[in-house]
Amino acid sequence: MGFATTAIHAGQEPDEATGSVTVPIYQTSTYAQETLGKHKGFEYARTQNPTRLALERNLAALEGAKFGYAFASGMAAIDATLRLVKAGEHVIVSDNTYGGTFRLFSRILSNYNIEFDFVDTSDITKVEAAIRTNTRMVFVETPTNPVMIVTDLQAVSDVAHRAGARVVCDNTFMSPYLQRPLDFGVDIVVHSTTKYLNGHSDGVGGIVVLNDEEDAEWLAFVQNSVGAILSPFDSWLVLRGTKTLALRMEQHDRSGRAVAAFLEEHPKVQKIYYPGSLSHRQHDLAKRQQKGFGGMVAFDVGSLENARIVFESVKLCTLAESLGGVETLISHPATMTHASVLPETRARLGITEGLVRISVGIEDTDDIIADLDQALEKIK
Ligand SMILES: *Cc1c(COP(=O)(O)O)cnc(C)c1O
Repeated sequence: MGFATTAIHAGQEPDEATGSVTVPIYQTSTYAQETLGKHKGFEYARTQNPTRLALERNLAALEGAKFGYAFASGMAAIDATLRLVKAGEHVIVSDNTYGGTFRLFSRILSNYNIEFDFVDTSDITKVEAAIRTNTRMVFVETPTNPVMIVTDLQAVSDVAHRAGARVVCDNTFMSPYLQRPLDFGVDIVVHSTTKYLNGHSDGVGGIVVLNDEEDAEWLAFVQNSVGAILSPFDSWLVLRGTKTLALRMEQHDRSGRAVAAFLEEHPKVQKIYYPGSLSHRQHDLAKRQQKGFGGMVAFDVGSLENARIVFESVKLCTLAESLGGVETLISHPATMTHASVLPETRARLGITEGLVRISVGIEDTDDIIADLDQALEKIK
């Protein structure tokens, strides 16, 4: 079955009791049992919930995985995934991950005798060089936020597997519609469902999907033991979101390309970051492992002053953190999402004070471009 069909039907049968076409929100904490040890597969709502189960099956199917576990946020999903690693083991991480991931690894999990090496995973020789005898996980994000560096998923998987390490990919920026990491040898995919999967900027959540049975059993155990589960209502919202994922991603991708092409030609823009652009140094790799390039575009207007003019002049684009919703959001990585990154790291990655990031929404493309155009015109 095709992606759009799977998105609408996987994990979701009409409700047996009523015929309800959408999966009901099972807002309950517990389930009646017939007699001792006899129940319908649901005992307590931290352990199992039918709405959450439908979402877990739906998202697993979209990524081409057997198992899925939904969490209260993307960070809770990433934290649960790291519970596959034990004290004394070593993890290699993309050096330009989401700030919250960097914070979780470097400030919290490193206190439990797990060692993290942050390396440029877009350079496979650096990944190889960082491998140690106790390396058990390679955690990558591709493309990265906000300068859109791409990691070769097949190459990283080959190197990691030779060393007996699992590969985890944070696929939040692409969604399974544009990139399916498991097809390139990746073992585990995580998402902040807050972004494209939910897609309507009205819920926070996370998911982990994978094929390995033993790791899946451990993740189910962690999900139930720690309890950072996604609520029935939030699960329902994400199920609502994935029904239109294919359509939305098509439009994010179409407008993302158009906005990037417009910015690339604009005299007030010094540089753009978009893997769909022929000027992106990894355009060919992105084309090979992605079905499209999506709606995330970053561009440099040269100075904080110029960036401020853009933020104060846009009318349609909303200044806000987050991404992946139907509305176009614009943000300033240096002072917002990447404020906690060391200044020298920011400089090396190209996260300057003049860098502006847009999450291109699904409004009419011409309206988005016209808004950016009038804002850029205000720069002297
Ligand atoms: C937002 C985000 C996260 C964290 O997800 P939350 O739902 O905010 O906890 C992780 N990774 C990436 C790439 C993100 O964009």
